[in-house]
Amino acid sequence: MKNLTRRDFNGLMMKGAGSAALMSVTSFACAMGPNQDKKKLGIALVGLGSYSTYQLAPALQDTQHCYLAGIVTGTPDKEKIWADKYNIPKANIYNYQNFDDIAKNDSIDAVYVVLPNSMHADFCIRAAKAGKHVICEKPMAVSVEECDAIINACKAAGVKLGMGYRLHSEPYTQQVKQFVKEKTFGDIKFISAEAAYRSTGNPDQWRLNKKLSGGGALMNMGVYAVQSTIYGTGENPISVSAQEFSTRPEYFKDTDETIMAQLEFPSGAVANISTSHNFNANSMYVSGTNGWVQLQPANNYGPLSGKTSNGDILEFPHESQQKLQMDDFAKHVLLGEPNKAPGEMGKRDMMIVEAIYESIAKGGQKVNLNFAPGFGFGG
Ligand code: NAD
Repeated sequence: MKNLTRRDFNGLMMKGAGSAALMSVTSFACAMGPNQDKKKLGIALVGLGSYSTYQLAPALQDTQHCYLAGIVTGTPDKEKIWADKYNIPKANIYNYQNFDDIAKNDSIDAVYVVLPNSMHADFCIRAAKAGKHVICEKPMAVSVEECDAIINACKAAGVKLGMGYRLHSEPYTQQVKQFVKEKTFGDIKFISAEAAYRSTGNPDQWRLNKKLSGGGALMNMGVYAVQSTIYGTGENPISVSAQEFSTRPEYFKDTDETIMAQLEFPSGAVANISTSHNFNANSMYVSGTNGWVQLQPANNYGPLSGKTSNGDILEFPHESQQKLQMDDFAKHVLLGEPNKAPGEMGKRDMMIVEAIYESIAKGGQKVNLNFAPGFGFGG
């Protein structure tokens, strides 16, 4: 009977999440009124690599509150291909040199920076100076100092800043956050989070070049595992201790291959994360005093999958995470809805990344962190 009640409760929660999403769309439609119903956020993608090509541009064909208005590319051949495919006017196509002219283009409201990590800060700051709202891909930059520079530039220009953390708009992740908030599984005591894939491609790719990437697996995939521990506890960590493993130094010449880290949280919860460019892993397990919830996969493009100690299988309809994420940012800009992944979230994660590298450099010594409660949390 107890289990049945819990199942019913969770079922209601799941339906609740769905109807909350529906209500927010409905209330958006109602709130827009007759004069605003044509307004959508015009987004320009900067960097037309694989993420822009295969995820963001297709998702922008399905978004309700934003659309692909322009492109910025360093590869002239891509200009015509993208212009033809997505009906982009010549006036909305820029290269890295004339990018700053975008300031004069009223049909572009926001710039989405999808370049190698070391180029994020430069282009986010230039976009802000051009008066455009900014979406920055993860990891935010290659140092906390650069994250601050992006945040300050956006503040100074009075533009909005969001991170490309797509999981904050994703229903399984929302469900975990809700379980934690409602203490469905009691007090959270332990999280295990893994985000990794095996890299075997071109050893000269930018992700394996520290100057362009800022770091290896930790910067690329580890941020997902760090995030899992934060929404799995609802807290920011107070310390990290970390270890690095290297088994293919001839391939990973310049960047970290595998990192494991332990995090402590103010409530006493502890977490173990693993990230790697040498093996595949993609899951999170959240254990509380009354049960557990698990997502596997937990951080790919979906559909994700999850279950709980109550015997429930989590099931949500699949939608493009990128579509949901960009619509959420557009609603933040257009309607003042909460920013689900603010710039401070990117900075907080970079502070944790830097603390993990510091711990490794000190032979695994514990490094303390001192975040204000809720720092970097999205709305
Ligand atoms: P990619 O290698 O496929 O594309 C990179 C783009 O940057 C290319 O268009 C390339 O021409 C351009 N570029 C400009 N200068 C370059 C240089 N010096 N070296 C290499 N490329 C250069 O990379 P991607 O997978 O599209 O990743 C781009 C960004 O998006 C990264 O910050 C990455 O972390 C992020 N990303 C996020 C997700 C996500 O799920 N949120 C997924 C993939 C990538």
